[in-house]
Amino acid sequence: MSPEVLYRKWRPHTFAELAGQEAVSRTLTNAVKAGRVAHAYLFSGPRGTGKTTTGRLLAKAVNCTNPKDGDPCDECDSCQAYRAGRALDLVELDAASNRGIDEIRSLRERANFAPSGGQDAYKVYLIDEVHMLTEPAFNALLKTLEEPPAHVIFALATTEAHKVPSTVVSRCQRFDFRRISVNDVKGRLRVVADGEEFEVPDDALDKIARVATGSLRDAINLLEQMVDSYGTKLTLENVIEGLGEIIDERSGDLAGHALRGNLKEGLTLISEVRDDGCDLRQFQRQVIAFLRGALLAKAGVEPEDGWSDKQKEARQQLVADLAPERIVATLKAFGEADLRADPLSPLPLELALASCVLAQEAGSAQGAAPAVSAPVPSPPRPAKPQAEPRRAAPPKASAPTAKTPSAVVPGTNPAKADGPKPEPAEAKSSTASSASAPQSPPESAPTSNGASDTGPASVQLEEARAKWPDIYKRTREIQYRAGALLNSGCAIIDASDDEVTFGFRHAMLLDRMEGDGGENLRALQQAVDEVLGPGRTVRCVLDPNVEAQRTTRGGHLVRAVEELGAEPLSPDS
Ligand SMILES: [Zn+2]
Repeated sequence: MSPEVLYRKWRPHTFAELAGQEAVSRTLTNAVKAGRVAHAYLFSGPRGTGKTTTGRLLAKAVNCTNPKDGDPCDECDSCQAYRAGRALDLVELDAASNRGIDEIRSLRERANFAPSGGQDAYKVYLIDEVHMLTEPAFNALLKTLEEPPAHVIFALATTEAHKVPSTVVSRCQRFDFRRISVNDVKGRLRVVADGEEFEVPDDALDKIARVATGSLRDAINLLEQMVDSYGTKLTLENVIEGLGEIIDERSGDLAGHALRGNLKEGLTLISEVRDDGCDLRQFQRQVIAFLRGALLAKAGVEPEDGWSDKQKEARQQLVADLAPERIVATLKAFGEADLRADPLSPLPLELALASCVLAQEAGSAQGAAPAVSAPVPSPPRPAKPQAEPRRAAPPKASAPTAKTPSAVVPGTNPAKADGPKPEPAEAKSSTASSASAPQSPPESAPTSNGASDTGPASVQLEEARAKWPDIYKRTREIQYRAGALLNSGCAIIDASDDEVTFGFRHAMLLDRMEGDGGENLRALQQAVDEVLGPGRTVRCVLDPNVEAQRTTRGGHLVRAVEELGAEPLSPDS
């Protein structure tokens, strides 16, 4: 997962620094100032809005020897201990991983000991994700809340207040944390960027702040990822490009399958996402964001999400002939998919997909819904071997093959969107070829899909593409950085008996592949020699329409970072 180095480093040290939660700050500092701190607080609200930070600040403030207007002085011995993370009177428990009664019991026992900081000190118990506690654990907690020891404060944080028993809630002073406004997020990002001496223009910070949708943690993590990828001088273009890469495009593909009623393809995709070790909740959020954007676009509103213009255009094409009702129904189904109970189970997503598809089938059986039942043409089959390598981006870059599922799902197929085109003729056939893939709109059904102009995928190409995971893996073993570059919007777009051509979506990544004194290219060449057999020269070309071939390695975030070309922490790189 994300290292969160900056997020941890730039946690606020005082309430004054806490972004976007003025009402909470004011009430708590007033309570500290007046010496009327409650025994138990419940902080509820979305992730990344400052709940646990507030709990720590509260602990720091009540134990500060020289508070200023209820705010910690950030200088006294106690404050220094909090700053250094060695405060003894703050006990943190993550209920997501410590759910049981034993933890709460031991916590209760410890609560009976006086705080170490002396007579006036408070011991603060910060329980994060408190709704995850088991029922016996809640009962044990409740007993403590009913007879709270003196000088003990409980700060309970949760993203799901409705799951906390009302008996517990009623014993707490409750604060609802709201999403942090774009301006507040931006303001804090500015503090972090300036403090770290990053050169980031306002519009780039604005973009990050908007995409983070009210979560300061997400915003700072995004900034960190951007700097990791592009260096400490960031431009708006970097950020837009980087955000486009961080979004798992398969979320748009899944939305496409749900909208078009492709149950099998959708289920296959979900299981791949699961097998990739992706964070399914994040994936779900991206599906929802995609559908929401589609709905807004349909209504003529330009959605502010992380999708690139190209992706947005593909999205618009996808829903151009769909009734808004269908988008709403799909949005609802995925919005209601509840992954909280078991974030590792893909079942809720599978059910959401199935319910969309079944509803559509029921609708079309009654002849009710103006369902667009897209024909599902078979992918173009390889016909004859093709010896001549192409100069650039042949259309089969996006031709479906069995082993490269991401190329089969054209929901957000960049080939459909307007990208820079290598050659007019080829760009044209590229569009045609992708339109022949499954679930494309009926008007682009494959009668003449351009295969005759450009030739079908060669047997060598299919073979090479099928070996992609091995080539990727071997390249990575030889030279880690080269492997990461392969995993970043790159695919084999042509192969013959004496040449294999790799298409890169971004010039920046192609440059890196060809740079480094030729080390990356040599690694790739060696991997190709070993996997496909010797005698084929590796060529790398720019191909803005390429659909990245995916491997099944690593978590989504790891891959997202790698896709940006970030250098992994590895001894061999
Ligand atoms: Zn202090």
